Amino acid sequence: MKDLKAITFQPQDNAPTIIAGPCSAESRTQVLTTAMQLHDAGIKIFRAGVWKPRTKPGGFEGIGSPALEWLAEAKERTGMRTATEVATREHVHDAISADIDILWIGARTSANPFAVQEIADTLAGLSDDVRDNLCVLVKNPVNPDLELWIGALERIYNAGISRMAAIHRGYSAYGEHLYRNPPLWRIPIELHRRIPELPILCDPSHIGGKREFIAPLCHQALEMNFDGLMIECHCEPEKALSDAAQQITPSELERLLRSLPARQHACGQELLLSLREQVDSLDSELLELLAQRMDVTDRIGRLKRKNAMTIVQPGRYDELMHLRVEEGESLGLNSDFVKALLAVVHEESVRRQLSIAGDRK
Ligand code: PEP
Ligand code: MN
Repeated sequence: MKDLKAITFQPQDNAPTIIAGPCSAESRTQVLTTAMQLHDAGIKIFRAGVWKPRTKPGGFEGIGSPALEWLAEAKERTGMRTATEVATREHVHDAISADIDILWIGARTSANPFAVQEIADTLAGLSDDVRDNLCVLVKNPVNPDLELWIGALERIYNAGISRMAAIHRGYSAYGEHLYRNPPLWRIPIELHRRIPELPILCDPSHIGGKREFIAPLCHQALEMNFDGLMIECHCEPEKALSDAAQQITPSELERLLRSLPARQHACGQELLLSLREQVDSLDSELLELLAQRMDVTDRIGRLKRKNAMTIVQPGRYDELMHLRVEEGESLGLNSDFVKALLAVVHEESVRRQLSIAGDRK
């Protein structure tokens, strides 16, 4: 995606891009009141869902196209840019007709390549002028599948959209969890590694699911160098028709934004470089040690093969895990981290021993 252009609403001076507004556009009064308050709080981009994908039938499914007029009015009165979710060809056409500046593809839609392709084909059919100015944001699919997310981004990019960003909104998980959609940060981090030129915003509202998690998640996201935040805000959050528990008021948002640290790039560079050198050399040592460890486990594999022993020996893995976790804890390492690390190393040893055993056949 080498020729991505800056997203139209990129603020100056390296500040994060902030998009805020209600989960759903519910009434003209709610949209305009929230928009005015957000504008007063310094927000430049107003979001509101018009077509709402709901898990079960019977909930509030959005007002639909008539609500686009309220967004257009909010834009005219405040000068803010507007953003809404689209899931079908008709949504795209209606949103463009209402002069919406930013379209986003929701998490349920980006999990469905047919739906994303339909949106992409519709975008490809727009006039060059409209397409060049339009910005499209792609939320991660509900399931933690980076390739599916990248696939959705590529479909939109291939349709000729060059103003794009990804939105990280966490992943559905079975059962009770602290967060509504656990963030699995390593997925957006890997997305950034794979497509460094693509801006990534974070949606703490849908990750957290509860108001009290929004601020700490915003802090974490900015610490991880996300390019911006999409935050659900409502003039009367407790009365919201969708996602009431996770919306905050415009004045709460203003306070929260003031609490975020300013980004600095210049300070402590020398110390940082020297610490990074230490990390590089420790990583090399770790890799060398891992290679040595694999040599030893390969020898064990050959011994097992010679003596017709099974590769996995009952008790050994369990014993090793216990001993290492204890040792790791005494060194100040988190036990889950040590377990996960050992599991990967052990899996690789078993894979290599299996291939040694396979040589016999
Ligand atoms: C939303 O942003 O209102 C929304 C429905 O989000 P998601 O697609 O992340 O669930
Ligand atoms: Mn929502």
